[in-house]
Amino acid sequence: RHSAHPSSQPLGGASPTPSAQGTLYIVSAPSGAGKTSLVRALLERNAAIGVSVSHTTRAMRPGEEDGVNYHFVTPEAFEAMVERGEFFEHAWVFDRHYGTSRVEVEKRLAVGEDVILEIDWQGARQVRELAPEAESIFILPPSLAALRERLSGRGTDDDSVIERRMRDAVSEMSHFDEYEHVVINDTFDHALTELECIVHARRSRLDKVRERYAPLLAELLHGVE
Ligand code: GDP
Ligand code: ADP
Ligand code: 5GP
Repeated sequence: RHSAHPSSQPLGGASPTPSAQGTLYIVSAPSGAGKTSLVRALLERNAAIGVSVSHTTRAMRPGEEDGVNYHFVTPEAFEAMVERGEFFEHAWVFDRHYGTSRVEVEKRLAVGEDVILEIDWQGARQVRELAPEAESIFILPPSLAALRERLSGRGTDDDSVIERRMRDAVSEMSHFDEYEHVVINDTFDHALTELECIVHARRSRLDKVRERYAPLLAELLHGVE
């Protein structure tokens, strides 16, 4: 990793106000397009950004861990959470329930952490209603052939699951124009840079800077004694 230019580091008074609300990012993509790998790489390079761990009723894949990739729950437990209004959004994807817990997201945004939701287009619609300020990103594969190769190359799903996901990919992708940003995951590093640029651009927006750097702005505008 290259080290940041010294002038890009915040100086003394310029640390973000802890009370500033974090930003919510929605990331959607057809299964296998690379959203989980891209989000993981983004997190490795950026502090103050986290990913929300969803609840799901699908089976755990080899290598997945409960509480890390997902909270794996039974349909009964999921339905009880729905009844209690514990989901920020939830949807039925590939014949399974998937949902984002309300507490988890609200708690992290409240302490100023940016939170990424890796959710499908149905969940994205619900989140836009509840949080219109959320920034949304759709990830596309460079071709259908590449998508199929990535799904089989991942080695986590059997052929029937892969066929099902390929069939559903087109309907998921048909919603790409409901998102503010579209990133084509051809070369991994290019796609990652685009994602990072979206996050940095959002952080430099006037409303965010006013919120995050209130003490610095007050000091600068006070002028020289
Ligand atoms: P992958 O995308 O191939 O890694 O497959 P997953 O089984 O992890 O995810 C299946 C689908 O469920 C994807 O379209 C996800 O975007 C979606 N999904 C995952 N978590 C959530 C969630 O919390 N809410 C919603 N609405 N969708 C989710
Ligand atoms: P998703 O979360 O969208 O289902 P994953 O992040 O699991 O997708 O990626 C699917 C597979 O494709 C993984 O094996 C991953 O390593 C691979 N992959 C992701 N991005 C690229 C890329 N730009 N080039 C080649 N392979 C990729
Ligand atoms: P996978 O089972 O391969 O991890 O995920 C399949 C799909 O479920 C992905 O398209 C993913 O975006 C979606 N998904 C995962 N978690 C959630 C969630 O919490 N809510 C919604 N709406 N979709 C989700």
